Amino acid sequence: MDWAIATDIGRVRAINEDSVLGRPPLFLVADGMGGHAAGEVASGIATAVYAELVDAGRLTRDDIVDAVASANARILAAGDRGSRGMGTTLAGVALLESAGDPHWLAFNVGDSRVYRLSAGVLAQVSTDHSEVQELVELGMITAEQARVHPARNVITRSVGSDPAPLVDSWVLPVITGDRLLVCSDGLHGELDDEQITATVSVGDPRAAATRLIELALAAGGRDNVSVIVVDVLAGGRSASEADEDTTPPATLEPVAGKILIDRVPGVSRRA
Ligand code: MG
Repeated sequence: MDWAIATDIGRVRAINEDSVLGRPPLFLVADGMGGHAAGEVASGIATAVYAELVDAGRLTRDDIVDAVASANARILAAGDRGSRGMGTTLAGVALLESAGDPHWLAFNVGDSRVYRLSAGVLAQVSTDHSEVQELVELGMITAEQARVHPARNVITRSVGSDPAPLVDSWVLPVITGDRLLVCSDGLHGELDDEQITATVSVGDPRAAATRLIELALAAGGRDNVSVIVVDVLAGGRSASEADEDTTPPATLEPVAGKILIDRVPGVSRRA
């Protein structure tokens, strides 16, 4: 794999409440909310919980899903100590394996997203937990109208809520040549899928991540914006064998280290 991270405060907000984690084989974006820097605390708790998981080698599918409940409890506890009403989205991908066969686990709570660029085609993997997404599914507005809708920032699930939120997850084959994009709504709120596709398709992960941030800022930069771009350089399936076995594996375990080629560390721009 090769990968890069970029996060930017944007052009309007006073602080960056997004937190990002690039700790192969797991990559995560968390978008915090709540006044007086509480959002930064909430998103930081989420990334810290996942960093601990990676460091402990606890990366089964269940570990990753269950960690949302841990992050939820910690954010609620931190809220009891002062910053009430804070929460965070999260969206991430992790490279796992089943009997030596690598798979991606993608997961999300809220409106941070996972996309996959495969053979030049961008597909949104995750589904937003938001009011406008519900309106889109009801056929009342289009995806384009959702981006400018007055309720576009209202999410229906967050980490830091009671009861703990449900996590959605997807299992994807690992295909050599694919590129994954994880981002906060500061990206997809400013750029439509066509603009994201045109930009994320060009250059190495660092170039693509940097350019995505630049374009989101040029489009207004009204929110904090975070992106993670992950390439599969080798070791996955070929595109032609991608559909051979569509049965999700029963178990997903931590990958053996030999699968990973963490070529260059990511780039992080906090402000
Ligand atoms: Mg945001």
